[in-house]
Amino acid sequence: MKMIFCPLASGSAGNCTYVSFGNTRLLIDAGISATKITNALKQLGLTPSDLNGILITHEHVDHIRGIYVFTRKYGVPIYANNGTWMGILKRDQDIPMQYRFAFETGMDFYIGNINITPFAIPHDANDPVGYMLRCGRLSAAVATDIGHLNDEWIRTVSGAQVVLLEANHDVEMVKKGPYPYHLKQRILSRRGHLCNEDCARALIQLYGGGVQAAFLGHLSGENNTPEVAYSVVTGMLQDSGIRPGEELVVNVARRDQISDMIVLETPPEKVRRPDMSN
Ligand SMILES: [Zn+2]
Ligand SMILES: [Zn+2]
Repeated sequence: MKMIFCPLASGSAGNCTYVSFGNTRLLIDAGISATKITNALKQLGLTPSDLNGILITHEHVDHIRGIYVFTRKYGVPIYANNGTWMGILKRDQDIPMQYRFAFETGMDFYIGNINITPFAIPHDANDPVGYMLRCGRLSAAVATDIGHLNDEWIRTVSGAQVVLLEANHDVEMVKKGPYPYHLKQRILSRRGHLCNEDCARALIQLYGGGVQAAFLGHLSGENNTPEVAYSVVTGMLQDSGIRPGEELVVNVARRDQISDMIVLETPPEKVRRPDMSN
């Protein structure tokens, strides 16, 4: 069994992540245009018809921009909870009924062979979620758009071998930056976005749960840079005795192009020979 995890775009301008376990292939969010999604899939050697579904985290436009055209054109099922569906349909009703699937936050379900747990995250949307995906001994999680650290979501993500975790901003850059006061307050609030330091704190906890590779994602274009996010997070990992690159792979997910994919494979189960001795 092989798991492939590859952010296709990540940041406040648009989010979309590709994950597959064996032959079941999913997107998490579709916040870039249908054309960009199709081009990104092409780079992975895939077409839209190879997808089994799109999981939506919440209704903010940087997570759903492309779903309307993409689904009308290619007929890919969309999965979201009722709160998120309300937000999606408020923006545009034109999603054929047969592609609308609803789940409940906290209740796991299957698409193909993938077990999916949508878990609640603190963010200013109707009913925002992150996702924990499991298949056999492989697992991956996406946790972005998170206002603050809490034990609940960290416990749910703990055990994921690959994680896309939000490193949205540098707190000082937000405070000194050009954003109007209300926007700064929103970003820094407990239902806004996760800063680089909190991302590192979460990763340090997840390391104890066995995470092997992390993408720092959903970076702000104004209040962060890939270099700042990487150096803050890897610096804090080192301070806590974790060697980035050796014990934990750390990549910054690219904002507007596909990132390097992570591939994990489980060794085939050992075939036991029947015991013929008696
Ligand atoms: Zn959001
Ligand atoms: Zn977002």
